[in-house]
Amino acid sequence: MKTSRIPGFYKMSVSERNELITEMFELSEDEKRALGTDNSLQMDTADKMVENVIGTHALPLGLGLNFLINDKDYVVPMVVEEPSVIAAASHIAKIVRESGGFKAEVNERLMIGQIQVVGCPDIYEAKNDIIDNKDELIQLANDAYPSIVTRGGGVEDLDVRILNEEADSAYSQMLVVHIYVDTCDAMGANIINTMVEAMAPRVEEVTRGKVYLRILSNYADRALVKATCVIPPELLKADSYSGEEVRDGVVHAYEFAASDPYRAVTHNKGIMNGIDPVVIATGNDWRAVEAGAHAYAARDGQYRSMSKWYVDDVGNLVGELELPIAIGTVGGATRVHPTSQLALKLLDVQSAKELSQIIVAVGLAQNLGALRALVTDGIQKGHMTLHSRSVAIAAGATGEMVDIIAEKLVQSKEIRVGKAQELLGEYKK
Ligand code: NDP
Repeated sequence: MKTSRIPGFYKMSVSERNELITEMFELSEDEKRALGTDNSLQMDTADKMVENVIGTHALPLGLGLNFLINDKDYVVPMVVEEPSVIAAASHIAKIVRESGGFKAEVNERLMIGQIQVVGCPDIYEAKNDIIDNKDELIQLANDAYPSIVTRGGGVEDLDVRILNEEADSAYSQMLVVHIYVDTCDAMGANIINTMVEAMAPRVEEVTRGKVYLRILSNYADRALVKATCVIPPELLKADSYSGEEVRDGVVHAYEFAASDPYRAVTHNKGIMNGIDPVVIATGNDWRAVEAGAHAYAARDGQYRSMSKWYVDDVGNLVGELELPIAIGTVGGATRVHPTSQLALKLLDVQSAKELSQIIVAVGLAQNLGALRALVTDGIQKGHMTLHSRSVAIAAGATGEMVDIIAEKLVQSKEIRVGKAQELLGEYKK
């Protein structure tokens, strides 16, 4: 098993890092090319992915290190434009691995398809008729996508809901048929959309209503993934703050986010800071994951913290994060983007379930990274130090000048573009 502990990785040059990773993961020439800005996504591939293409838009790809999840080491590819995200995730992962690493689990992984039926002469009879014809409807869906059944997946269940039962308006009242589909290692949007479209004519016959929408639900609450970590307080010590102080601060911060949507949104943004970069790096649909995660955070009617932090009986800090994660290791852009293929190789994942566990563990690490900073020195100290390089570049610094100006910005405690331009001007003189 490869280790994700690579001390001093951050001090290496990009080419030294590439060399090390190439050797460690035995990358082919094509795979090495996928790391280059000029060669990662070819224009003809990009032109087939979306419409009206005029170019490609590169983002930094970094590695989250030190991740130990279910006793397996992972080097985690992260695509993100924000400084300090990857450093914070790696830092917390190092702390967590000292206490045994993250544990993650997926109980079931079923994606949901919806069919909206309106105008039924008798909505209750229509509901019963759907249930009576359940086996036939499931068969229709499976016949529309036989290859997923051959792979061991397919529709596992079907149910029906009536929405706005008491509504007067004919527009509001409707029947909604749900199918629950094992899409194996695919995210499943296309699989499910094909299935629900194939079922629609028969659903209309059975209900004597009219079908409008036939589409996947991005609220994947039958594909919940949970990651946990247990950290003794001594590992949380930070500068002049004791481990107990940090631990208690994190729990207070959680309670704030659990009770107040204004705080919860920012708290959860910090979790998505870890989740989105892995979702993007692996070619997955981050809008789908974002939409589902935020809906799940509001499942009891109030938008709350996605994670939970508490102190166990022996004084350890315990973190839990449970989210619906609709991703795949096949299909979508994963299949066509060379850097996504490379990301999956670096992760060495065997299934969509395994990838979803990594994604949630990284989200939990990212959350603790932000909370630990917030309850100690504040977020700006670390963040602005790393941000200073982007500020220097924005002011026009290039080459070795970037680090020189960035350092001067940190010393001046004024990390802003105007100051960087001033420093650059002075240096040029
Ligand atoms: P694809 O249709 O691209 O690919 C899935 C296919 O991969 C399967 O049908 C299967 O085809 C093949 N496959 C190969 N190996 C496996 C395996 N181990 N497990 C499962 N399938 C396998 O992808 P999805 O259906 O997952 O759709 C995802 C895309 O849909 C994303 O890009 C998303 O952005 C987009 N989308 C999202 C929507 C939404 O979120 N609301 C709506 C519409 C589209 P075969 O068996 O024939 O080989």
